Amino acid sequence: MYIIILGAPGAGKGTQAGILSREMNLPRIASGDLFRQALEKKSELGLLAKSYMEEGRLVPDEIAIRMVLERISLPDCVSGCLFDGFPRTLEQAEVLDKALAEQGKSIAKAIYIQVTKEEFLKRLSGRWLCRNCQTPYHLVTSPPKVQGKCDKCGGELYQRPDDNEETVRERLEVFFAQTAPILDYYRKQNKLIEVNGNLGIQEVAREVISVLRGEVSDNHKVS
Ligand code: AMP
Repeated sequence: MYIIILGAPGAGKGTQAGILSREMNLPRIASGDLFRQALEKKSELGLLAKSYMEEGRLVPDEIAIRMVLERISLPDCVSGCLFDGFPRTLEQAEVLDKALAEQGKSIAKAIYIQVTKEEFLKRLSGRWLCRNCQTPYHLVTSPPKVQGKCDKCGGELYQRPDDNEETVRERLEVFFAQTAPILDYYRKQNKLIEVNGNLGIQEVAREVISVLRGEVSDNHKVS
């Protein structure tokens, strides 16, 4: 099963994708993590992506698509995965559909985690990530047990350089200009599920999982 998690920066995509990945036993393919790992290794891909990431702009489609298609060609993605942060443009969505269709596969659902603008800014300013396993924490809503250390692997926690206020604003603008249009793309295919992301982490997770398992009541917007 191939599932996409959509949402503006700070909507909780990474957190929810992590929970879903464990619940559904699917690998999480996070394009932002792949770029950050490439950057840390100073690989050609990382250096290509660097300036875009620092400025909060999207890396060109061609580069993002090549990187993600290469990643999902690995054996762990053969029967499905969770996409986190990809696709982010219509072009990426179309190429992904085409690449999956060539193998007789398709996207099952795209889950859109909706959050108000005030909530994005609040969340991003307190966000810390594990340098090793990328688990996200929040100083107020989900702090680590030991300050500065990851609960899961003991790795060092750090703040993303693109979580500063100016870059966050740019990333939000980019989301609404370039990524929001793909909501309609999945809506037209009857694949879009909209979830209220303003709730707590566990409540959002419960809602996402129950929607995916088809145990949801009529008042959820499943289009
Ligand atoms: P994220 O961790 O998903 O917030 O991504 C961090 C940064 O990586 C973004 O601001 C972009 O510069 C870049 N990036 C991640 N995913 C993509 C994508 N699918 N297309 C283009 N750029 C991306």
